[in-house]
Amino acid sequence: MELRKAFLLGALFATCVHASGQGDTEQKMVIIVDPGHGGIDSGAIGINGLSEKELTLNLAEAILRYNNTLLDNRYDIYLTRYADTLISLSHRTRLAKALKPDLFISLHCNHANNAKASGLEIYLHDSPLPQGHMAMAKAMETHLKTKLGYRGRGVKRANFQVLRDNTAVCPALLLELGFLSHLDEARHLERKENISALGLAVLTGIKKLLE
Ligand SMILES: [Zn+2]
Repeated sequence: MELRKAFLLGALFATCVHASGQGDTEQKMVIIVDPGHGGIDSGAIGINGLSEKELTLNLAEAILRYNNTLLDNRYDIYLTRYADTLISLSHRTRLAKALKPDLFISLHCNHANNAKASGLEIYLHDSPLPQGHMAMAKAMETHLKTKLGYRGRGVKRANFQVLRDNTAVCPALLLELGFLSHLDEARHLERKENISALGLAVLTGIKKLLE
């Protein structure tokens, strides 16, 4: 009900702006996608030698590509890095402060000493959160589980800097997309088409959260 009201108000506002001639183009939603790690920071290294920094960048590129080809550039998506470079955590969050996005998504892959640990984890900051952030994280988990068949390990809370600095600006989620220490999950990520499928699932998850 509240959402519907907000939507109607939004639609009304958009009509007013249009009618007054202040803007003919509908404002696109802005999303920041943060490929974890980069440069000398490889992140986790998989049991099969895959590096997290490379996977997260490939995933982010798939998200950009599908936003272009399937969604006709529905969203303005910015990456915190476009190459294999080291970007400080504070620079990653400074971008959000400048762009004021509708959503911040940080992409990671997990690693554990226990080779049996598997599945998805979604993190939110551990401070009291604005209404709706927890529901978004849960919806993203359900979406990814359903689309990809991964085991869900639940929504967790942590004091990660990318979450801490962004939560005041917009909903900020950190996705741990499988364990590089788990043989099957690491092998799954060796195939380009599986990275593409994962990127597509994250993008359609984002679309669901922002509708
Ligand atoms: Zn990571």
